Amino acid sequence: MFPVQLLIIGGGASGLAAAATAFSMGIKQIAILERLPRVGKKILATGNGRCNLSHDSVSVQNYQGSYDPTEILMQFGSAENFFSALGLYCRTDQEGRIYPYSLSASAVLDALRLACENVQLFCNTSVKDLFFHSGKWHALTESGQEFSADSVIFSAGGIVQPKFGTDGSAWKILERLQIPIVQGKPILCPLLSEKKLLQPLKGLRVKASVTLCRQKNYLSTEIGEIQFTEKAISGICIFNLSSCFIHQPTEYFLSVNFFPELDVPEIISRLYACQAVRCSSSCVDMLSGLLLKPLAGVILKQANISVSMPCSELSALQIRKIALLCHEFHFPILGTVKEQAQATAGGVHGSALDQHLQVKQFPRLCITGEAVDIHAPCGGYQLHWAWASGYSAGKFLSER
Ligand SMILES: Cc1cc2nc3c(=O)[nH]c(=O)nc-3n(C[C@H](O)[C@H](O)[C@H](O)COP(=O)(O)OP(=O)(O)OC[C@H]3O[C@@H](n4cnc5c(N)ncnc54)[C@H](O)[C@@H]3O)c2cc1C
Repeated sequence: MFPVQLLIIGGGASGLAAAATAFSMGIKQIAILERLPRVGKKILATGNGRCNLSHDSVSVQNYQGSYDPTEILMQFGSAENFFSALGLYCRTDQEGRIYPYSLSASAVLDALRLACENVQLFCNTSVKDLFFHSGKWHALTESGQEFSADSVIFSAGGIVQPKFGTDGSAWKILERLQIPIVQGKPILCPLLSEKKLLQPLKGLRVKASVTLCRQKNYLSTEIGEIQFTEKAISGICIFNLSSCFIHQPTEYFLSVNFFPELDVPEIISRLYACQAVRCSSSCVDMLSGLLLKPLAGVILKQANISVSMPCSELSALQIRKIALLCHEFHFPILGTVKEQAQATAGGVHGSALDQHLQVKQFPRLCITGEAVDIHAPCGGYQLHWAWASGYSAGKFLSER
């Protein structure tokens, strides 16, 4: 039996933030139990290795789910202040995304590791069970070790990215305690579409306005760069839309507007202008003045127009058809690319937690990060929640 004051299950973003905070506020016996050989492995992969650790416009409105994060976000304040207290300085890019000044995710992990220097780290230690007995929490590990503690912070993340230690198996520990959980769903990931539509577009990147639709309902729109792969459509705006997708393939499609700044009559007049200048060219060559050639080919195919037809033969009806497809091209959605999901929607239901993230039915057990039913779009909001929730749980338990 290994006794401590505070036990943290999971040495990821929120667990490390919780440990650093609790130690700085006076809890001296803290242990982090981490199933991987080292802590913070996922942090190193965030923001393409640069760690987009927050956003300068972060607010309650950025978060969805059953937990209301108002108190936690208010108490935490800014991620820049949190990290500057750990000796790490940040910079903000033109879109408001906040990064470590060195633009290196390892600087963020180093800051947390240094702040946790006096915290006991148990790596290769996977927790399989947690129970409350004789006034203490007890955690049992896969290898048969037992830890006991006055308080526990459950920071074992979500259900995606098993290579970073998070496969959802840890949620079973909470289920056994009968804590209500909203079923997990992979989000912030590419969306699968029809191979025959995507194959010719593979490798293309275009700026577009994209709307996720369910039958005739428009669910959400994002503008940005989209990337085509053989089977999926990717890009930050697609990642954000993926949160609104529920796996019922036939009902969803993406409506892509390849000319977000033009309306249909304006596209038509540009098409006529191209036709006039390139009157002796094929349809695909005419369109290449406006669109990338593979995309022009796909649009013509969808309009039932041969790419090699002389563009001078295009009728007014065909020009209108091309314009409408440029404005609203439909890609059916067949599912999500789960392996590339960056986050989880779902987790411990908000109604089970108080304003300090403590489980109402179990005093001195707090839940942080992706294990809480709360999620946000790309841009640093996920990590902001991880730091904020870890900070609040660490602070709350150190004040008990
Ligand atoms: C590729 C990628 C890029 C991303 N980029 C960004 C970004 O730039 N900005 C942003 O805001 N968000 C980003 N995210 C999301 C962000 O990383 C997560 O939301 C955040 O790390 C969640 O923190 P957490 O503490 O809840 O969980 P995690 O950081 O996932 O940590 C959970 C830890 O618990 C451990 N664990 C799990 N089960 C057990 C167990 N039974 N016993 C012991 N330990 C266990 C895991 O090994 C893991 O180390 C990205 C995610 C990915 C995958």
